Amino acid sequence: MSNRPYNFGAGPAMLPEPVLHQIQTEMLDWRGMGRSILEIGHRSAEFKAVLEELEERLRWLMGIGPSYAVLFCQGGGRLQFSMVPLNLLGAGVSATYVITGTWSRSAATEASRYARINTVWNGSSASLPTAEQIDFARDDSYLYYCDNETVQGIEFPEFPGVKTGPVPIVCDMSSNFMSRPVNVERYGLVWAAAQKNFGTAGLTVAILRRDLLDLAGPETPLLLNYSVYAKTQSLPGTPAVFQIYVANLMARWIDSHGGLSEMDELARERSGILYRTLDETRDVYVTKVAPAARSRMNVVFRLRNEALTDLFVREAEENGLLGIAGHRSVGGIRVSLYNAMPVEGAQAMADFMKDFARRYPAKKAAAARA
Ligand SMILES: *Cc1c(COP(=O)(O)O)cnc(C)c1O
Repeated sequence: MSNRPYNFGAGPAMLPEPVLHQIQTEMLDWRGMGRSILEIGHRSAEFKAVLEELEERLRWLMGIGPSYAVLFCQGGGRLQFSMVPLNLLGAGVSATYVITGTWSRSAATEASRYARINTVWNGSSASLPTAEQIDFARDDSYLYYCDNETVQGIEFPEFPGVKTGPVPIVCDMSSNFMSRPVNVERYGLVWAAAQKNFGTAGLTVAILRRDLLDLAGPETPLLLNYSVYAKTQSLPGTPAVFQIYVANLMARWIDSHGGLSEMDELARERSGILYRTLDETRDVYVTKVAPAARSRMNVVFRLRNEALTDLFVREAEENGLLGIAGHRSVGGIRVSLYNAMPVEGAQAMADFMKDFARRYPAKKAAAARA
């Protein structure tokens, strides 16, 4: 391995070094074609084979059955904020959104252009609702939530056992996709932008129960209609060829590293190292996320002495620990630990945090509390 710095950026996130090497090696001559993946026709047998391999491997890794379509859309996560209501409202006029943070709130705001949006929970408590607290209407077209709130660092350990009956559950899994086993059958739709755990920006995977495919109205733009992707094998036009190629390499990498159970184990190990460190240095750092809602993907905290935040970020960079400034809307620190982050990276971050805490102890604060 090289001595590249550890990149804790929230997205686009780091890729595994072997994946980067393979991209580099294949750039001038992909599979003996004398051209790169960027320069071949998207309807060539070679490219279609990549698309098929990616779909097959996703189905295998996630246990996706034939009653679900696996669609590769363009646009980032935010385009799904529009596609979800445009495709799933059907004859209905309302949907319920569980608001746990920035991303579910943005999704609800966008959806309110098209439907009456009811919200539950309010996203400011740094904890998660129970099944009883997730109230929705029986005639809602769907129930929407975000599995991991990337900005706040809040993740459902598991979505509560809400009995939704015929109301499909829609999940934004952008920032914890492929990081643990998922029971896809619980969902009407799972979607994820690729640039966190699974590749690079410009590709979004949508896993949609087939009976929900044809609900979009006739005014729905062609490329915002899931059924168009299903009918064309995700080739309604020129797709995001490079992003699909990288996602395929990522899927292979995840597979060769033990699949989703192993990704989950590694994620728990990485985040556990940091949460233990936070718990041991409470006089210097503070996290408001409820222990049961702690994200395995994004560890979000602040320095008690906020005046030290810039110094903390700068010193981390000098130590080869990049991308830890919190989201621009909330400040503080966010350490993102997606699939590609080695456990050693989390350990290096924890060592730095402990060292920083020793050098800048909160003497006064500690004395005042004593
Ligand atoms: C990053 C992210 C998005 C937005 O993705 P873009 O591609 O930037 O539009 C949406 N939801 C979650 C949970 C995310 O982490």
